[in-house]
Amino acid sequence: MPELTRRKFLTTASLGLVAASAAAGDMIQPVAALPSTSLPPKIKLPPLMAPTEKESEGPPRALPPNERLGFAIVGLGTLSLEEILPAFAQTKRCKPVALVSGSPDKAKEIAQQYGINSKNIYNYQNYDSIRNNPAVDIIYIVLPNSMHAEYVVRGAKAGKHILCEKPMATSPAECQQMIDACKQANKKLMIAYRCQYEPYNRAMIQMVRNKELGVVQLIQADNGQNQGGDLNQWRLKKALAGGGCLPDVGIYCLNACRYLTGEEPIEISAMMHSTPGDPRFKEVEENVNFLLRFPSGVLANCSTSYGYHEVRRYRVFGSDAWAQLDPGFAYTGLQMMVGHKSRTNSMVEVVENRRLTEKNQFALEMDHMAECVMENKQPHTPGEEGLQDQKLIDTIYEAARTGKTIKLPAVSGLDITRGPNPTS
Ligand code: NAD
Repeated sequence: MPELTRRKFLTTASLGLVAASAAAGDMIQPVAALPSTSLPPKIKLPPLMAPTEKESEGPPRALPPNERLGFAIVGLGTLSLEEILPAFAQTKRCKPVALVSGSPDKAKEIAQQYGINSKNIYNYQNYDSIRNNPAVDIIYIVLPNSMHAEYVVRGAKAGKHILCEKPMATSPAECQQMIDACKQANKKLMIAYRCQYEPYNRAMIQMVRNKELGVVQLIQADNGQNQGGDLNQWRLKKALAGGGCLPDVGIYCLNACRYLTGEEPIEISAMMHSTPGDPRFKEVEENVNFLLRFPSGVLANCSTSYGYHEVRRYRVFGSDAWAQLDPGFAYTGLQMMVGHKSRTNSMVEVVENRRLTEKNQFALEMDHMAECVMENKQPHTPGEEGLQDQKLIDTIYEAARTGKTIKLPAVSGLDITRGPNPTS
């Protein structure tokens, strides 16, 4: 099917299906998939290695440029310039087609670098006119946390699908507004929880779910860094960040405990500490430790910090084995270790270093979003996933402030805030 006809067909058909699903009153329900905009067949190359060697996945399959979905990147800061824009080169279904920035010179330079038409550069004032640009299918919000809600709502009103960075917003009320706006516009909303699309984290989920570690007893997760540099950075301003280390990096620990178990916590306690007199922590916190109890009995012990040297790891302690990623939340260089009794010698404890093929997390996450739009599927990490973390972040702060353990109502079922698993 030629590009325009095929895209028009997909848009029209997906609107119909989403409207039907919204009318049914449940956006989490998977809806019937459209004919797949399938990737081209794999090119087979002759094998180079003996069967003893780790298999190669072969050359990646990708859509030609005119069949990929167009992304507009909103906010040209560190994450956009260092990770997201370079990652398009490794996507299969996506291309950058527009930029939204308050700095026209920077936007022009970046547009040239990525072959983006300078007519597709917007600023924060004329952002809404992106509605008239058919090249833009998906808007990716990469702004300070307190700006996510406004730009998601405006993007949905402009008739575009939305991918939004974590944390989803700075309050549950804002998250709900974002969900409602996308629902009303019949547009998809996905929160950019890159780890949930990444092979090592997916393998850990698999190991827990298929009971390879036996019965999980404990998850220990730590994510932090020594935040410094510019004291005026938005991460140190409560109004822009919503909080300190907890919503910025602690959210990875919280989200991991939830995606590993698939459960929602029923009890939370927490402690917080900021070094007195440290000018970085006038408005936001430096350290938070929190404990979660899950309905199956799994306990989780998490720490996050803007004061300790970079640590991005977690370990799952099961009755039969343990498994860890250290680092586990970093962009690259993830390392998996698994410890268990030897299957061939009962006197030996084995510690394995399992090496998977590393993949670009931002490319995987953007491709998942594009696939969901093309095939009218619910994203694996929709707005509801971000809303749940935001509610739990509020509860962690409350537990730390009051010194009380807070009980939460038990939720039945697994993965209740997630859409179908990603396919690649
Ligand atoms: P950054 O400060 O480097 O970039 C923010 C951009 O927003 C800048 O281009 C800045 O000019 C622009 N901006 C517009 N209005 C602003 C205002 N009022 N104050 C400050 N900046 C303003 O931040 P970043 O590290 O790129 O983070 C952006 C978002 O991405 C945040 O929500 C953050 O949590 C998220 N993030 C996610 C990951 C991840 O791994 N998924 C990693 C880093 C950041």
